[in-house]
Amino acid sequence: MSIQLKAIKNWISGKVKEKTYFNSEHMVRYLTQRLFSLAEIETVLVEGMILETHSHPLRNDSYLVLGYAKEQPIHVMCTKDTDENLIVLYAYRPSSPTWKDARTRLPEKGHSMEGNVIKCFFCNSKIEPITVGNFDFRWEGGLYVIKGVPAGLCVQCGEKYISAEASEKIVAKIEKQAFTGKDKVLVFEYGG
Ligand SMILES: [Zn+2]
Repeated sequence: MSIQLKAIKNWISGKVKEKTYFNSEHMVRYLTQRLFSLAEIETVLVEGMILETHSHPLRNDSYLVLGYAKEQPIHVMCTKDTDENLIVLYAYRPSSPTWKDARTRLPEKGHSMEGNVIKCFFCNSKIEPITVGNFDFRWEGGLYVIKGVPAGLCVQCGEKYISAEASEKIVAKIEKQAFTGKDKVLVFEYGG
């Protein structure tokens, strides 16, 4: 690592040790799904190394940190915001087809999948078409569940993408209150 990167890495370690950092909602979701523990993420950020710096014209640089927890590699993306806060953005376990090993990217295959989202905005990995069994969300105080929503799933970090067409159908169903089920959980079949 360069001297500059070492300074950033020390700053990241310091923020984590002081517990004066922030997790994105993505991170909280991963933690509640037990994909990672907070201790694992903190270990990676304290003991790991900066593998890549990602620059963006409208945002501050973000840093991909590689570290190990229980001898398994984890990548954690974080950034320093304009107020000098450490924000932990997302994390994943590096795997093919994006990563050859924990440090080496595989060459990208440029095939588009019939106009679908092909790469994850967050981790740049491949998106596979899936059907989401239960897509839950809150709307005007109620908890809703939509069954069988077609989506794109990132094979690496688990982010989901819903097409404009599917989103429109969902909104139309909500507006028609076309739900079955009872109490606060209202369920309807997406395909119906
Ligand atoms: Zn992803």
